[in-house]
Amino acid sequence: MGSIQRIDGRLHLPALATAHSHAYRRALRDQAQRHVPAGAGAASLWTEALHELIDNLTPESLYQIARVAYEELRRGGVRTVGEFHTIHHQAGGKPYESRVELSEALINAARAEGHRVCLVRVIQGRGGFDRQPEGPQLRCSDASLDVALRDVDDLWASYADQPEVRIGVGVHGLGTVSPDWLPTIAEFADRHHLPLHIALAETTADVEACVAETGKRPVELLADLGVLCDRLVAVHATHVSPAEAELLGQAQAYVCLCPTTERSRGGGLGDITALYQAGARLCTGADGHVLTSPLDDLRSLELSERVRLGKGIVLAPPERTPAEELWHIGSELGSQACGFDDAGGTVRLERAAPELSLVREAQLLDAIVFGASDRVFL
Ligand SMILES: [Zn+2]
Repeated sequence: MGSIQRIDGRLHLPALATAHSHAYRRALRDQAQRHVPAGAGAASLWTEALHELIDNLTPESLYQIARVAYEELRRGGVRTVGEFHTIHHQAGGKPYESRVELSEALINAARAEGHRVCLVRVIQGRGGFDRQPEGPQLRCSDASLDVALRDVDDLWASYADQPEVRIGVGVHGLGTVSPDWLPTIAEFADRHHLPLHIALAETTADVEACVAETGKRPVELLADLGVLCDRLVAVHATHVSPAEAELLGQAQAYVCLCPTTERSRGGGLGDITALYQAGARLCTGADGHVLTSPLDDLRSLELSERVRLGKGIVLAPPERTPAEELWHIGSELGSQACGFDDAGGTVRLERAAPELSLVREAQLLDAIVFGASDRVFL
Protein backbone atom coordinates (compact mmCIF):
# COMPACT_ATOMS: atom_id res chain seq x y z
CA MET A 1 0.00 0.00 0.00
CA GLY A 2 0.93 3.62 -0.72
CA SER A 3 3.70 4.76 1.48
CA ILE A 4 4.22 1.76 3.77
CA GLN A 5 7.32 0.28 2.16
CA ARG A 6 9.73 -2.59 2.55
CA ILE A 7 13.26 -1.66 1.61
CA ASP A 8 15.90 -4.41 1.85
CA GLY A 9 13.43 -6.44 3.86
CA ARG A 10 12.87 -3.70 6.45
CA LEU A 11 9.56 -2.01 7.11
CA HIS A 12 9.44 1.77 6.58
CA LEU A 13 6.38 3.43 8.08
CA PRO A 14 5.19 6.97 7.35
CA ALA A 15 5.24 9.05 10.53
CA LEU A 16 2.02 9.40 12.52
CA ALA A 17 0.02 12.58 13.07
CA THR A 18 -2.20 13.66 15.92
CA ALA A 19 -4.72 16.06 14.46
CA HIS A 20 -6.23 17.38 17.69
CA SER A 21 -4.10 18.29 20.70
CA HIS A 22 -4.48 20.62 23.68
CA ALA A 23 -0.85 20.53 24.75
CA TYR A 24 -1.34 22.56 27.95
CA ARG A 25 -3.67 19.92 29.35
CA ARG A 26 -0.70 17.57 29.61
CA ALA A 27 -0.14 19.30 32.96
CA LEU A 28 -3.44 17.81 34.20
CA ARG A 29 -2.80 14.14 33.49
CA ASP A 30 -2.64 13.34 37.20
CA GLN A 31 -5.92 15.15 37.91
CA ALA A 32 -8.27 13.20 35.66
CA GLN A 33 -9.10 10.04 37.59
CA ARG A 34 -10.73 10.95 40.90
CA HIS A 35 -14.17 11.96 42.12
CA VAL A 36 -14.54 15.45 43.45
CA PRO A 37 -15.25 15.47 47.24
CA ALA A 38 -18.96 15.93 48.00
CA GLY A 39 -19.96 19.58 48.29
CA ALA A 40 -16.77 20.92 46.70
CA GLY A 41 -18.68 22.77 43.97
CA ALA A 42 -16.74 21.90 40.82
CA ALA A 43 -17.94 19.21 38.42
CA SER A 44 -14.68 17.32 38.87
CA LEU A 45 -11.18 17.75 40.20
CA TRP A 46 -10.09 17.96 36.58
CA THR A 47 -12.41 20.90 35.83
CA GLU A 48 -11.25 22.72 38.94
CA ALA A 49 -7.60 22.09 38.07
CA LEU A 50 -8.25 23.11 34.45
CA HIS A 51 -9.60 26.49 35.52
CA GLU A 52 -6.69 27.05 37.87
CA LEU A 53 -4.20 26.11 35.17
CA ILE A 54 -5.81 28.44 32.61
CA ASP A 55 -5.85 31.28 35.15
CA ASN A 56 -2.11 30.92 35.78
CA LEU A 57 -0.70 29.99 32.39
CA THR A 58 2.07 32.21 31.05
CA PRO A 59 3.80 32.14 27.66
CA GLU A 60 6.82 30.54 29.38
CA SER A 61 4.86 27.86 31.27
CA LEU A 62 2.78 27.07 28.18
CA TYR A 63 5.99 26.57 26.20
CA GLN A 64 7.47 24.26 28.86
CA ILE A 65 4.31 22.15 29.25
CA ALA A 66 3.96 21.89 25.47
CA ARG A 67 7.56 20.69 25.16
CA VAL A 68 6.68 17.80 27.49
CA ALA A 69 3.53 16.94 25.55
CA TYR A 70 5.24 17.14 22.18
CA GLU A 71 8.25 15.12 23.27
CA GLU A 72 5.94 12.32 24.33
CA LEU A 73 4.13 12.48 21.01
CA ARG A 74 7.44 12.32 19.13
CA ARG A 75 8.45 9.22 21.08
CA GLY A 76 5.09 7.77 20.09
CA GLY A 77 5.87 8.00 16.37
CA VAL A 78 4.21 11.38 15.71
CA ARG A 79 5.83 14.05 13.53
CA THR A 80 2.74 16.20 12.80
CA VAL A 81 0.62 17.90 15.45
CA GLY A 82 -2.68 19.71 15.02
CA GLU A 83 -2.69 22.04 18.03
CA PHE A 84 -6.19 23.27 18.83
CA HIS A 85 -5.25 26.51 20.46
CA THR A 86 -7.94 28.14 22.59
CA ILE A 87 -6.13 30.46 25.06
CA HIS A 88 -5.06 33.76 23.53
CA HIS A 89 -5.15 36.56 26.09
CA GLN A 90 -3.97 37.45 29.58
CA ALA A 91 -6.03 36.63 32.67
CA GLY A 92 -9.17 38.79 32.56
CA GLY A 93 -9.08 38.92 28.76
CA LYS A 94 -6.56 41.71 28.07
CA PRO A 95 -4.59 40.95 24.90
CA TYR A 96 -0.83 40.48 25.09
CA GLU A 97 1.24 43.22 23.54
CA SER A 98 1.98 40.77 20.78
CA ARG A 99 -1.54 39.42 20.32
CA VAL A 100 -0.33 36.03 19.07
CA GLU A 101 2.29 35.43 21.76
CA LEU A 102 0.74 32.20 23.05
CA SER A 103 0.29 30.84 19.52
CA GLU A 104 3.96 31.48 18.88
CA ALA A 105 4.94 29.73 22.12
CA LEU A 106 3.14 26.58 20.96
CA ILE A 107 4.60 26.69 17.46
CA ASN A 108 8.09 27.16 18.90
CA ALA A 109 7.61 24.24 21.31
CA ALA A 110 6.42 21.94 18.52
CA ARG A 111 9.29 22.89 16.24
CA ALA A 112 11.80 22.44 19.08
CA GLU A 113 10.55 18.85 19.45
CA GLY A 114 10.92 18.15 15.75
CA HIS A 115 7.26 18.34 14.70
CA ARG A 116 5.47 19.89 11.83
CA VAL A 117 2.61 21.82 13.37
CA CYS A 118 -0.79 23.12 12.36
CA LEU A 119 -1.70 25.83 14.85
CA VAL A 120 -5.48 25.86 14.78
CA ARG A 121 -6.39 29.28 16.12
CA VAL A 122 -9.74 28.76 17.86
CA ILE A 123 -12.31 31.55 17.73
CA GLN A 124 -14.70 32.02 20.64
CA GLY A 125 -17.48 34.58 20.92
CA ARG A 126 -19.50 33.36 23.90
CA GLY A 127 -19.28 31.00 26.85
CA GLY A 128 -21.83 28.45 25.66
CA PHE A 129 -25.22 28.23 23.95
CA ASP A 130 -26.81 30.59 26.46
CA ARG A 131 -23.87 32.08 28.34
CA GLN A 132 -21.51 34.99 28.20
CA PRO A 133 -17.84 34.09 28.68
CA GLU A 134 -16.67 34.34 32.29
CA GLY A 135 -13.70 33.45 34.49
CA PRO A 136 -11.03 31.45 32.65
CA GLN A 137 -13.02 31.69 29.42
CA LEU A 138 -12.11 35.37 29.17
CA ARG A 139 -8.60 34.31 28.18
CA CYS A 140 -10.12 32.43 25.25
CA SER A 141 -12.73 34.96 24.13
CA ASP A 142 -12.57 37.25 21.14
CA ALA A 143 -14.01 40.75 21.33
CA SER A 144 -15.39 40.42 17.80
CA LEU A 145 -15.14 38.14 14.81
CA ASP A 146 -13.21 40.76 12.86
CA VAL A 147 -10.53 41.04 15.54
CA ALA A 148 -10.22 37.24 15.78
CA LEU A 149 -9.87 36.81 12.02
CA ARG A 150 -7.26 39.56 11.96
CA ASP A 151 -5.21 37.52 14.46
CA VAL A 152 -5.53 34.43 12.27
CA ASP A 153 -4.56 36.51 9.26
CA ASP A 154 -1.45 37.81 11.05
CA LEU A 155 -0.38 34.30 12.00
CA TRP A 156 -1.01 33.07 8.47
CA ALA A 157 1.08 35.90 7.00
CA SER A 158 3.99 35.45 9.42
CA TYR A 159 4.31 31.69 8.82
CA ALA A 160 3.48 31.65 5.10
CA ASP A 161 7.09 30.94 4.15
CA GLN A 162 7.62 28.15 6.71
CA PRO A 163 6.86 24.78 5.13
CA GLU A 164 6.73 22.99 8.49
CA VAL A 165 4.02 25.28 9.91
CA ARG A 166 0.38 25.56 8.92
CA ILE A 167 -2.22 27.89 10.39
CA GLY A 168 -5.77 26.66 10.76
CA VAL A 169 -8.94 28.16 12.16
CA GLY A 170 -11.19 26.46 14.69
CA VAL A 171 -14.35 26.51 16.77
CA HIS A 172 -14.53 24.72 20.12
CA GLY A 173 -18.11 23.49 20.13
CA LEU A 174 -21.01 25.09 18.31
CA GLY A 175 -22.16 26.85 21.48
CA THR A 176 -19.04 29.00 21.63
CA VAL A 177 -19.81 31.17 18.61
CA SER A 178 -23.04 32.64 17.37
CA PRO A 179 -24.25 30.54 14.38
CA ASP A 180 -24.03 33.60 12.13
CA TRP A 181 -20.23 33.66 12.64
CA LEU A 182 -19.81 30.23 11.11
CA PRO A 183 -20.23 31.05 7.39
CA THR A 184 -17.79 33.96 7.72
CA ILE A 185 -15.21 31.73 9.44
CA ALA A 186 -15.66 29.06 6.75
CA GLU A 187 -15.31 31.61 3.93
CA PHE A 188 -12.13 32.91 5.53
CA ALA A 189 -10.72 29.36 5.76
CA ASP A 190 -11.63 28.75 2.14
CA ARG A 191 -10.09 31.99 0.92
CA HIS A 192 -6.78 31.27 2.70
CA HIS A 193 -6.87 27.47 2.11
CA LEU A 194 -6.81 26.79 5.84
CA PRO A 195 -7.90 23.65 7.68
CA LEU A 196 -11.19 24.34 9.49
CA HIS A 197 -11.45 22.35 12.74
CA ILE A 198 -14.80 22.32 14.56
CA ALA A 199 -15.37 20.30 17.74
CA LEU A 200 -18.96 19.08 17.77
CA ALA A 201 -21.37 16.47 19.17
CA GLU A 202 -18.89 15.51 21.87
CA THR A 203 -21.75 14.79 24.29
CA THR A 204 -25.47 14.25 23.96
CA ALA A 205 -25.89 17.52 25.92
CA ASP A 206 -23.98 19.34 23.13
CA VAL A 207 -26.40 17.97 20.56
CA GLU A 208 -29.47 18.78 22.65
CA ALA A 209 -28.32 22.37 23.27
CA CYS A 210 -27.68 22.86 19.55
CA VAL A 211 -31.16 21.55 18.70
CA ALA A 212 -32.73 23.76 21.39
CA GLU A 213 -31.09 26.90 19.99
CA THR A 214 -31.21 26.28 16.26
CA GLY A 215 -33.73 23.49 15.72
CA LYS A 216 -30.98 21.45 14.08
CA ARG A 217 -28.43 18.84 15.04
CA PRO A 218 -24.78 20.02 14.77
CA VAL A 219 -23.84 18.65 11.36
CA GLU A 220 -27.26 19.54 9.94
CA LEU A 221 -26.66 23.09 11.13
CA LEU A 222 -23.26 23.21 9.40
CA ALA A 223 -24.85 21.83 6.22
CA ASP A 224 -27.58 24.48 6.31
CA LEU A 225 -25.02 27.24 6.83
CA GLY A 226 -22.91 26.00 3.92
CA VAL A 227 -19.98 25.16 6.18
CA LEU A 228 -19.59 21.47 5.27
CA CYS A 229 -16.63 21.04 2.96
CA ASP A 230 -13.53 18.94 2.37
CA ARG A 231 -11.35 21.21 4.51
CA LEU A 232 -13.60 20.66 7.54
CA VAL A 233 -12.24 18.53 10.37
CA ALA A 234 -15.14 17.57 12.65
CA VAL A 235 -13.52 16.80 16.01
CA HIS A 236 -15.06 14.20 18.37
CA ALA A 237 -18.36 13.73 16.45
CA THR A 238 -19.22 10.97 18.92
CA HIS A 239 -22.95 11.60 18.89
CA VAL A 240 -23.68 12.33 15.23
CA SER A 241 -26.68 10.55 13.73
CA PRO A 242 -26.39 8.21 10.71
CA ALA A 243 -27.85 11.01 8.55
CA GLU A 244 -25.19 13.42 9.82
CA ALA A 245 -22.49 10.81 9.11
CA GLU A 246 -23.79 10.73 5.53
CA LEU A 247 -23.53 14.51 5.27
CA LEU A 248 -19.92 14.44 6.51
CA GLY A 249 -19.11 11.68 4.03
CA GLN A 250 -20.72 13.47 1.09
CA ALA A 251 -18.66 16.55 1.90
CA GLN A 252 -15.50 14.39 2.17
CA ALA A 253 -14.90 16.02 5.51
CA TYR A 254 -12.39 14.67 8.01
CA VAL A 255 -13.56 13.35 11.35
CA CYS A 256 -10.97 13.44 14.12
CA LEU A 257 -11.76 10.84 16.74
CA CYS A 258 -10.23 11.13 20.21
CA PRO A 259 -10.74 7.68 21.71
CA THR A 260 -8.53 8.04 24.78
CA THR A 261 -10.48 11.14 25.84
CA GLU A 262 -13.87 9.55 25.21
CA ARG A 263 -12.77 6.49 27.17
CA SER A 264 -11.45 8.54 30.07
CA ARG A 265 -14.53 10.74 30.32
CA GLY A 266 -17.08 8.05 29.57
CA GLY A 267 -18.08 10.02 26.48
CA GLY A 268 -19.78 7.11 24.73
CA LEU A 269 -18.97 5.10 21.63
CA GLY A 270 -19.59 6.79 18.29
CA ASP A 271 -20.81 5.00 15.19
CA ILE A 272 -17.44 4.77 13.46
CA THR A 273 -18.77 2.35 10.88
CA ALA A 274 -21.39 4.85 9.72
CA LEU A 275 -18.76 7.58 9.30
CA TYR A 276 -16.33 5.24 7.57
CA GLN A 277 -18.85 3.75 5.18
CA ALA A 278 -20.21 7.20 4.34
CA GLY A 279 -16.73 8.21 3.16
CA ALA A 280 -15.72 10.59 5.93
CA ARG A 281 -11.93 10.65 6.24
CA LEU A 282 -11.06 9.46 9.71
CA CYS A 283 -8.05 10.59 11.74
CA THR A 284 -7.17 10.65 15.44
CA GLY A 285 -6.19 13.12 18.15
CA ALA A 286 -4.50 12.85 21.55
CA ASP A 287 -6.80 15.72 22.63
CA GLY A 288 -6.26 16.28 26.38
CA HIS A 289 -3.17 14.05 26.75
CA VAL A 290 -4.72 11.99 29.55
CA LEU A 291 -2.96 9.17 27.76
CA THR A 292 -0.50 9.93 24.99
CA SER A 293 -0.30 6.83 22.84
CA PRO A 294 -0.91 7.37 19.14
CA LEU A 295 -0.88 3.58 18.65
CA ASP A 296 -3.59 3.23 21.25
CA ASP A 297 -5.64 5.96 19.56
CA LEU A 298 -5.39 4.09 16.28
CA ARG A 299 -6.26 0.61 17.43
CA SER A 300 -9.07 1.99 19.59
CA LEU A 301 -10.95 3.00 16.43
CA GLU A 302 -11.10 -0.61 15.38
CA LEU A 303 -11.28 -2.32 18.77
CA SER A 304 -13.96 -0.11 20.35
CA GLU A 305 -16.08 -0.61 17.23
CA ARG A 306 -15.70 -4.38 17.59
CA VAL A 307 -16.92 -4.04 21.20
CA ARG A 308 -19.83 -1.80 20.20
CA LEU A 309 -20.97 -4.07 17.40
CA GLY A 310 -20.04 -7.40 18.95
CA LYS A 311 -18.22 -8.58 15.83
CA GLY A 312 -14.74 -8.91 14.32
CA ILE A 313 -12.77 -6.81 11.86
CA VAL A 314 -14.54 -3.57 10.91
CA LEU A 315 -12.22 -1.12 9.15
CA ALA A 316 -10.65 -2.99 6.25
CA PRO A 317 -11.18 -2.19 2.59
CA PRO A 318 -10.37 -5.03 0.18
CA GLU A 319 -6.98 -3.63 -0.80
CA ARG A 320 -5.55 -3.20 2.71
CA THR A 321 -5.16 -5.18 5.90
CA PRO A 322 -6.81 -3.70 9.02
CA ALA A 323 -3.37 -2.58 10.30
CA GLU A 324 -2.54 -0.93 6.95
CA GLU A 325 -5.86 0.88 6.95
CA LEU A 326 -5.33 2.16 10.50
CA TRP A 327 -1.81 3.30 9.65
CA HIS A 328 -3.16 5.20 6.65
CA ILE A 329 -5.68 6.89 8.97
CA GLY A 330 -3.02 7.70 11.55
CA SER A 331 -0.38 9.01 9.16
CA GLU A 332 -1.57 10.36 5.81
CA LEU A 333 -5.13 11.30 6.71
CA GLY A 334 -4.07 12.87 10.00
CA SER A 335 -1.43 14.94 8.21
CA GLN A 336 -3.89 16.04 5.54
CA ALA A 337 -6.35 17.13 8.24
CA CYS A 338 -3.52 19.40 9.42
CA GLY A 339 -3.05 20.87 5.95
CA PHE A 340 0.03 18.87 4.88
CA ASP A 341 0.12 16.86 1.66
CA ASP A 342 2.02 13.87 3.02
CA ALA A 343 3.12 12.23 6.26
CA GLY A 344 6.38 14.19 6.37
CA GLY A 345 8.89 11.36 6.59
CA THR A 346 9.14 7.96 8.18
CA VAL A 347 9.63 6.60 11.69
CA ARG A 348 12.36 4.12 12.61
CA LEU A 349 11.47 0.92 14.36
CA GLU A 350 13.12 -0.97 17.21
CA ARG A 351 12.77 -4.51 15.87
CA ALA A 352 14.32 -5.85 19.08
CA ALA A 353 11.51 -4.40 21.26
CA PRO A 354 10.04 -7.17 23.47
CA GLU A 355 6.58 -6.68 21.96
CA LEU A 356 7.93 -7.77 18.59
CA SER A 357 9.58 -10.99 19.74
CA LEU A 358 8.18 -14.07 17.98
CA VAL A 359 6.49 -11.83 15.41
CA ARG A 360 6.81 -12.89 11.77
CA GLU A 361 8.26 -10.27 9.49
CA ALA A 362 5.28 -10.46 7.11
CA GLN A 363 2.86 -9.61 9.95
CA LEU A 364 5.06 -7.04 11.65
CA LEU A 365 2.67 -4.13 11.08
CA ASP A 366 -0.24 -6.11 12.53
CA ALA A 367 1.76 -6.69 15.72
CA ILE A 368 2.84 -3.04 15.91
CA VAL A 369 -0.66 -1.63 15.50
CA PHE A 370 -2.56 -4.14 17.62
CA GLY A 371 0.01 -5.38 20.13
CA ALA A 372 2.86 -2.94 20.67
CA SER A 373 3.64 0.03 22.87
CA ASP A 374 5.48 3.17 21.85
CA ARG A 375 8.76 1.41 22.73
CA VAL A 376 8.83 0.06 19.16
CA PHE A 377 9.78 3.53 17.88
CA LEU A 378 13.40 4.60 17.90
ZN1 LIG B 1 -10.45 19.06 22.26
